[in-house]
Amino acid sequence: MNKKETIVAGIRASGQPHIGNYLGAMKQFVELQESNRCFFFIADLHSLTTPFDPKSQRANALDIALDYLALGLDPDKSILFLQSQVAEHAELAWIFNCITPLGELERMTQFKDKSQNTKTESINAGLLNYPVLMAADILLYKPSGVPVGEDQLQHLELARVIARKFNSHFGDTFPLPKAVSNKETLRIKSLSDPEKKMSKTGDEALLIVDSPEEIRRKLKKAVTASAADGSAPGVENLLLLLGQFGSAEDVNKFHAAIKDGSIRYSELKDLLAERVIEYFKPFREQRAKLAANPASVLEILAEGARKAKVVASETLREVKEKVGLL
Ligand code: ATP
Ligand code: MG
Repeated sequence: MNKKETIVAGIRASGQPHIGNYLGAMKQFVELQESNRCFFFIADLHSLTTPFDPKSQRANALDIALDYLALGLDPDKSILFLQSQVAEHAELAWIFNCITPLGELERMTQFKDKSQNTKTESINAGLLNYPVLMAADILLYKPSGVPVGEDQLQHLELARVIARKFNSHFGDTFPLPKAVSNKETLRIKSLSDPEKKMSKTGDEALLIVDSPEEIRRKLKKAVTASAADGSAPGVENLLLLLGQFGSAEDVNKFHAAIKDGSIRYSELKDLLAERVIEYFKPFREQRAKLAANPASVLEILAEGARKAKVVASETLREVKEKVGLL
């Protein structure tokens, strides 16, 4: 990737991030800011599409801002803001709604999945129009790349469809954004069921905010049993984590012990626990500091919104002119 590409990424504020979220997504975001112009928004309008409680809505948005800032997202290097504080997102989404064929939205896998699992009376139009808002979120900043997980690729493709359609009807306006995928898409497995991925909604996950005691407790219980075919996905998962949070030396030592049969899983778990505790220590300290001063976090978000608005309002002005709004 060239230096100073424009990157836009949405952050879902849904529940406490676990180490899978960190290694699979959050860590890359923080790295991207070093050589790119990054717009990171907390997708608080998107979270209104599924049932929510206003109190936790507010708390979740602040929590995730705290997490990212404490992980090293630097307001001097990247722009962090709340989607709802830059009104251009919703305004562009409306204009895009009016050029998006209904059929395109109805065939989106996420809409089909979510609407099938929800009672008909609680499926709202926002759930259907979610990808249109996402197209607006992205295209407002005319990025070259969007880091998205596999589950969002279809929505990114729709954003490209909308961009193409807009360009062909109203003249060249939006460059087509590419998906930026993680160098090595790490998939961290559940500690108690290593056949499944670690997940917010699944079995107890190892959270990035966990205290040293919690980290030790959760890792002690991690499954290491071998499967019938001799494979041990739980052990592989722990070694993968040790490689991420510890050193190559740490990992080699255990690989050697597996080979010569002297492996003791309790030692692997203990060392991993200490490495994870150490790794997230600065994060925990920084997070506690920021949490003690929520006003400073709100100010960072407000300042981020002001900066994002400069770019977003320019794009919206161009769009309105092209579609004939006075
Ligand atoms: P849910 O169970 O509600 O889907 P989740 O744990 O999958 O929650 P998401 O909010 O869906 O978390 O995902 C946030 C980001 O973290 C996405 O980019 C996703 O690809 C990544 N991610 C989620 N789980 C893992 C995992 N186990 N290993 C690596 N990356 C992950
Ligand atoms: Mg998920």
